[in-house]
Amino acid sequence: MSLTLTVDGERWRAHLRQVADTHPGLVPVTKGNGYGFTLARLARKAQWLGVDTIAIGTYDEIGHVAQRFDGSLLVMTPWRPFGAALDADPSQDPALARRLVHTVSRVEDLETLLTRQPDARFVLERMTSMQRHGMTARELWAAARVLADRPHARLEGIAMHLPLAQGSHLSEVSRLMNDVVAAGLRTTTVWVSHLTDAELAALAQSYAEYTFRPRIGTGLWLGDRSALSVTATVLDVHDLERGDAFGYRARTAPKSGHLLIVSGGTAHGIGLEAPTGESSIKARAATLARGGLDAVGFVRSPFSIDGKQRLFAEPPHMQASMLFLPAGARVPAVGDRIDVRVRYTATAFDRVDVT
Ligand SMILES: *Cc1c(COP(=O)(O)O)cnc(C)c1O
Repeated sequence: MSLTLTVDGERWRAHLRQVADTHPGLVPVTKGNGYGFTLARLARKAQWLGVDTIAIGTYDEIGHVAQRFDGSLLVMTPWRPFGAALDADPSQDPALARRLVHTVSRVEDLETLLTRQPDARFVLERMTSMQRHGMTARELWAAARVLADRPHARLEGIAMHLPLAQGSHLSEVSRLMNDVVAAGLRTTTVWVSHLTDAELAALAQSYAEYTFRPRIGTGLWLGDRSALSVTATVLDVHDLERGDAFGYRARTAPKSGHLLIVSGGTAHGIGLEAPTGESSIKARAATLARGGLDAVGFVRSPFSIDGKQRLFAEPPHMQASMLFLPAGARVPAVGDRIDVRVRYTATAFDRVDVT
């Protein structure tokens, strides 16, 4: 019935343990759709791993993890003096407030946050070549001046969010580290994203007095794909003769075959794939001449049967999809499971079965 993520539990846990053991100070990232597993499950797994802190994406995600993981919660979206950040009001829930580590990316926000909560825990984000959020070197100096007058403020480190690796990050991180050192902030912890193991080792050696804490999501939760499989269920199978109409738009079958109704649609994040093959008119004409189905407007789907990727008969519906299976192909039975290729970070599974 369902779009299912099946997890080989033993294998998955062995991988999680291995990543934790080889990354001292690991901060598991649990955000968004929980990398397909759900935030709740990842929070419980982080508790099982025994880490002291997890990183969440937004203030709105606190409710999903706070009861399932009992350590510190680093919120990676920078604190702002409006919106969801203000809902985490220390006077309402002081115990939760003590567990929150805010990310502060503007000097003005540092002042406002500390005026509201003088003993707030926070990291200062240094701008990187990502250009998403963060302070310049000059702003770090200004932040240090603000902190000099705020004895109760709890600076937990500097955060750097680096782009996905395109060559080495080391020269950039070294430059940023120089700014951190020069600012004279009272911290020796640096929270980093997207550094390779070799880069982490090199930095630990170059800046021996600093502790680098890697924030890892994909490489942790999705790092061993052999532990994961995604399947949809065949819900119905109908014979189609050439010219038979089907679907929301009553299009007609270009040749005989079968219509498969499978679980998984737009609500799960199932989308149209790029058209098959080349898209030039000449290439399409050649495909048409061979009787290729993409030339008649069928688009490749992420569903595959017997290892062959199949075409959508029409764009995916909200919770189900219609596939066209040409005559001659093996026809799965109602109830069979078929493979689906998905982006885990963009898929809402009906169920996650950990075996
Ligand atoms: C999402 C995110 C991460 C984790 O990224 P992965 O590629 O999933 O490991 C780390 N840091 C920040 C700031 C993020 O937003």
